[in-house]
Amino acid sequence: MEYQLIDGKATATAIKQQIAEEVKNIVANGGKQPHLAAVLVGHDGGSETYVKNKVLSCEQCGFKSTLFRYEENTTEEELLACVDRLNKDEDVDGFIIQLPLPKHIDEQKIIMAIDYRKDVDGFHPINVGRMAIGLPCFISATPLGILTLLQHYHIETSGKKCVVLGRSNIVGKPMAQLMMQKQFGDSTVTVCHSHSATLKEECREADIIIAAIGRPDFVTADMVKKGAVVIDVGTTRVPDATRKSGFRLSGDVKFDEVAPLCSYITPVPGGVGPMTICSLMKNTLAAGKKEYYK
Ligand code: NAP
Repeated sequence: MEYQLIDGKATATAIKQQIAEEVKNIVANGGKQPHLAAVLVGHDGGSETYVKNKVLSCEQCGFKSTLFRYEENTTEEELLACVDRLNKDEDVDGFIIQLPLPKHIDEQKIIMAIDYRKDVDGFHPINVGRMAIGLPCFISATPLGILTLLQHYHIETSGKKCVVLGRSNIVGKPMAQLMMQKQFGDSTVTVCHSHSATLKEECREADIIIAAIGRPDFVTADMVKKGAVVIDVGTTRVPDATRKSGFRLSGDVKFDEVAPLCSYITPVPGGVGPMTICSLMKNTLAAGKKEYYK
């Protein structure tokens, strides 16, 4: 079967260009340049890369960006004080605290301290709750990016059977919520996790599989029905001596054997990843325009 590769990189580039155009117009008309702040604690390699790419994307979109760095041994109080400052800083439209945080810091406490009107990651319970009942809000970037990709490629989701693998707060749960809702996916949704007894059977019946578990090559050909749409969120660093970096990124889907069965499939890298950052830019633009909250 001839499958179509979903190009997240090209889609994200096109959307960022549209955002840049809009920002140019806003500024030309005397409006405020959107400003995203990012807080990075410690020196985790993955987090460093993500934040670097976020700052780069801000430049591409014509946003102002500010990066605040804290050492690994920063206390919870120091970080809460930083959140408080950013909440009050009138020039900052939105900000993100790059996760994961060091073990001695209570992540949930930090997220709760963020002013939901600046929570462009969409992790605050007010945004999560508003999303769940279909009110305007900041939607978590990865699920929003996946929805945007499905729309961009005109992939029919209404009435389809969708299986979401993984139930994390940042990907699996919001993804399942969005795919279920009438105004977004409008699909029949099943969520599978590490204790699902019938995971393979559920996958085999799915029109759309969204894999977000972080287990390289987990989804194999025997789990995918012909013509399915497969979205691979997984990005696990796998040691690879042939690469300069010493690793390569591996998705949750065994691409070579699954792709020939699919109608559409995302690659890793170049699929969901670039769309996640693109969605953060969309949320920052909305924050700058005070689109959801005054
Ligand atoms: P997470 O918080 O570790 O959650 C993983 C989920 O997968 C959990 O719900 C877990 O089940 C489930 N799971 C783990 N092993 C499983 C198995 N063998 N069978 C079935 N379910 C299993 O991860 P996450 O933050 O959601 O991220 C998932 C993956 O997506 C990671 O590779 C991450 O790097 C990637 N990611 C990529 C992007 C991007 O922009 N491309 C963004 C975010 C995340 P339990 O709940 O039962 O433990």
